[in-house]
Amino acid sequence: MRNKFLLTVLLVAVIFIVSCAPKPVGEIPTAEEEQIEEQEQPQTTEISKPAEKPVTQEPAQEVTEQPPQSSPLPCDIAPLQRQFSNTPYYTGPLFDAHVHMPGPSDVKKLICNLDKEKAKAAIGFYWSPPQSQPLGEMLAEAASIKNDSSGKIRLFLMPKSYSLKTLEDIETTHKGLFTGYGEMAFYNRGDPSQSYYPQSPDEQQFLDLYVLAGKNNFVVMIHPDKGQQKAIENVLQKNPHVKFYFHGDEIEGAIIGLMDKYPNVYYSIDAVLSRIPSSYGDALHMSMTEEAYVSTVSQDFDAMLQADVSAWKTKIEKHPDRFTWGTDRGGFTWHYGEEVSRLFEELSRAFIGQLDPAVQEKYAYKNAESLLQKR
Ligand SMILES: [Zn+2]
Repeated sequence: MRNKFLLTVLLVAVIFIVSCAPKPVGEIPTAEEEQIEEQEQPQTTEISKPAEKPVTQEPAQEVTEQPPQSSPLPCDIAPLQRQFSNTPYYTGPLFDAHVHMPGPSDVKKLICNLDKEKAKAAIGFYWSPPQSQPLGEMLAEAASIKNDSSGKIRLFLMPKSYSLKTLEDIETTHKGLFTGYGEMAFYNRGDPSQSYYPQSPDEQQFLDLYVLAGKNNFVVMIHPDKGQQKAIENVLQKNPHVKFYFHGDEIEGAIIGLMDKYPNVYYSIDAVLSRIPSSYGDALHMSMTEEAYVSTVSQDFDAMLQADVSAWKTKIEKHPDRFTWGTDRGGFTWHYGEEVSRLFEELSRAFIGQLDPAVQEKYAYKNAESLLQKR
């Protein structure tokens, strides 16, 4: 198992290096990898595998072991002690508007981190491949995440595996369980079970999905590929009443122009806050372990902060109602680690502290709240 895991890590690393997209396959493991692991290791509770998704056989047990809602778990929420720069610092609430949901065994950890970070809520992108989990189980699991977090985690369903009809039925029978569709990945992450690559976001099947999103009053979260700006504009023009929420460096350069033109455009500035100087990737997606992450961010903290201010401050202040904070954690178990949470929180609060005081709370949590507000 250990060898198998090392092999998987190595494979992910290789695909990462080969891929031109800075946010690579590592974000979410392939269903195939998980299935293979599960078949070989049905009884194991090893948690170090890069498991984004729960596996079918055992989760019911884990779910029922969770403590009742509203006091999810004993969670040490001692306030964070700053370690780094002495700059102004934002101390108010946060809203993590970009999380990839872990499997059931890590949900408590995530909720605990959110509490520590004073995150009022989170948007959780949720996905469960139908080939490994029947629809009914997936929906029950989603409902338990909602309960266990006392409604704090607002789930977006990743629509890739479902037909339009199924998505429609889910909303009819489980109204309120999901709040949006996404993350819809159009860039190449080397994982066809997760990405729509090389399709274009304005193909008819997606236009139909956006219409359904409009009917449901859902937000649509898209991570476009390079060169898809025209297609995105087409989507925005055709769906003026649907809120579209983007992220990713592929669209980063175009986002202000899109916001200037379309009032329904939102964007999350998340893991990119830990972009490594002299590289194009961020520490969360370039590191393979929590230790490596801690060492990179600790070493480059001030440089990252400076780069964030020069990359984003003017943009956020130009469109103070459209940018949201987030982490983009998910995919690897270590992404939910306490040290990752603590360091990224400090970096984020130091960054928010550099923004115009009039926009700090908007970026930190208020814009995410209005993004989810129904019309
Ligand atoms: Zn993401």
